[in-house]
Amino acid sequence: MNKGSLLLHPLKTGLMPDLETLQATLHSIGFTGDAINERSWMVGEQFLQLLTFMGCSPHIRLEPDSEDDHDFCHISLRLADTPQLLYSEHSRPCRCNNCAKPVVKSWEAFDSNAGSWSCGHCNTPHQRLEELRWRNDSGVAVCFIEIHSIYPGEAQPVDSLMKQLEKVTNSDWRYFYLHGQN
Ligand SMILES: [Zn+2]
Repeated sequence: MNKGSLLLHPLKTGLMPDLETLQATLHSIGFTGDAINERSWMVGEQFLQLLTFMGCSPHIRLEPDSEDDHDFCHISLRLADTPQLLYSEHSRPCRCNNCAKPVVKSWEAFDSNAGSWSCGHCNTPHQRLEELRWRNDSGVAVCFIEIHSIYPGEAQPVDSLMKQLEKVTNSDWRYFYLHGQN
């Protein structure tokens, strides 16, 4: 069964970090370990220190059981040319920063390339996508760090990991959980 993923991304929706710097940073702090392919890695030796796991005995598999096992905990970069919206099953759309009403009726109507929104409820203009109120089950970006095989709420990044990401990209970062997606 697919548990889901934890995703980290720059708050600026169009920000593509320098990937060499980003990858080198993740490696040097021990978050990522051996490469699986060009854009995915086994977890590094500091991985369990850079996430806080909820619950007393998390069942995290850090190695595949077999060659075709992709459902173990590992890390990959998910990249897109234009801002990509990712949302979980049963996720509800983000809300206006002023009146807290959903900006669209359903995610299908959400334009992740819009750049900014004027609220149809309270008429607050020009809210950038990153200024909207996002829940922890959706996000939009061109670059996501995906940590596979994490249940929603099972783990969250420690401050020092987010600070490192912010330092090397000059942007704030946030995280959310993706589940019910293949
Ligand atoms: Zn509004």
